[in-house]
Amino acid sequence: MLATLLAAKAAIISIWFALFFIGERLARADSRPTSSARLFKNFGMWVLLMALSVSVVAPLTAWGANQLLWVRSEWMTAAGVGAALLIIDLILLDCWTYWVHRAYHKVPLMWRVHEIHHRDEFLDTTSAVRFHIGEVVFSALLRLIPISLLAIPLPTVILFEIILFCLAVFHHSNLKLPSGFEKALSWVIVTPSIHWIHHHAIREDTDSNYASGLSVWDRVFGSKSPHERHPNMKIGIEGIEDKGFLALLVAPFLGPGR
Ligand SMILES: [Zn+2]
Repeated sequence: MLATLLAAKAAIISIWFALFFIGERLARADSRPTSSARLFKNFGMWVLLMALSVSVVAPLTAWGANQLLWVRSEWMTAAGVGAALLIIDLILLDCWTYWVHRAYHKVPLMWRVHEIHHRDEFLDTTSAVRFHIGEVVFSALLRLIPISLLAIPLPTVILFEIILFCLAVFHHSNLKLPSGFEKALSWVIVTPSIHWIHHHAIREDTDSNYASGLSVWDRVFGSKSPHERHPNMKIGIEGIEDKGFLALLVAPFLGPGR
């Protein structure tokens, strides 16, 4: 079952990524050039990430989904609340992801790995796959907490991962959207205008707009930036430059960049 779910996940995210990768090259929101070296670096991170996902993260998640500390009552299924539970599980996982992301910014040791994602000095679909392998494993370990405590079924977790990936590709993308459409959408989900602020090379903005799926979390928990995305805003980390592929891999072990 795990192999089937992973195959479906790989197919869906590949198609989604390809569509946005092409789309953002046809309709660019930010017209600044980006180097092919940067693209190769980000794709290199994705290759490591995929290898780790199949070999470590997926088996770990499947194991966690079997460690049910709180078994759901049968009356829930009998009462036909399965679909409602699915929605509730997805919302809870999204809220969990918000707080984990916030912790990556506030806990110095966690920031060391998350910093690799933020060092990217431009944003597009490839930024969504640029994460240090340490962050991927640590996030998977942390996610075992809600999965096992709330007995969230494995297919729900995989569905959440697919949705999260698709939304991450969307809100990192450099795709130009009609402003009225994006403004309306931003009330429900995180759009590029919201997430680009999170990558603005100003500490105050970097430490805001943590939501990944539903945009409501930043409004509820008081972390919404008051600033708006503007053309040519500097992307990255204030006072810190990006590094080469191998330097990024070892950077978390050498100390904090900020
Ligand atoms: Zn961040």
